[in-house]
Amino acid sequence: MARYHLNLETGSPGLCRAKEGNCPYESISEHYATREEAARSYEDYRQAILLENIEKITDYDVANQLMSRLYTQGLMVMAHIVDLEAEVKRDQPEEDRQQLEIILGERREEWTHLQKSTIYLRARLSRLGWEKSDNSVQH
Ligand SMILES: [Zn+2]
Repeated sequence: MARYHLNLETGSPGLCRAKEGNCPYESISEHYATREEAARSYEDYRQAILLENIEKITDYDVANQLMSRLYTQGLMVMAHIVDLEAEVKRDQPEEDRQQLEIILGERREEWTHLQKSTIYLRARLSRLGWEKSDNSVQH
């Protein structure tokens, strides 16, 4: 079966030709079944790095793209939370309900985390927006 790894510096997925355990990328990148999966994982990786360093983002478009990603993710997480809340209320074995509540808890945490990032990013975005319009006035 084909396996793909990521070059984390360039973000490009590469077909892995090494035997399992012999790949030089093994320690820095997971391996994925498809190129798309590897590419998606790189986007997540990049997003995580950007979110850890929001104040270092200097490109308005990068911040703006990140903002729309967060927005979409927020909608998906919220939709999942609403589904889970409805499911938890349904009549079912205690064990299943507990399992659902664990997932629900994780999703709520994710939601809180996303909201926090969104607030920081919005502040950064408006600052970059001001700088951008300042520059266009001067030129
Ligand atoms: Zn590999």
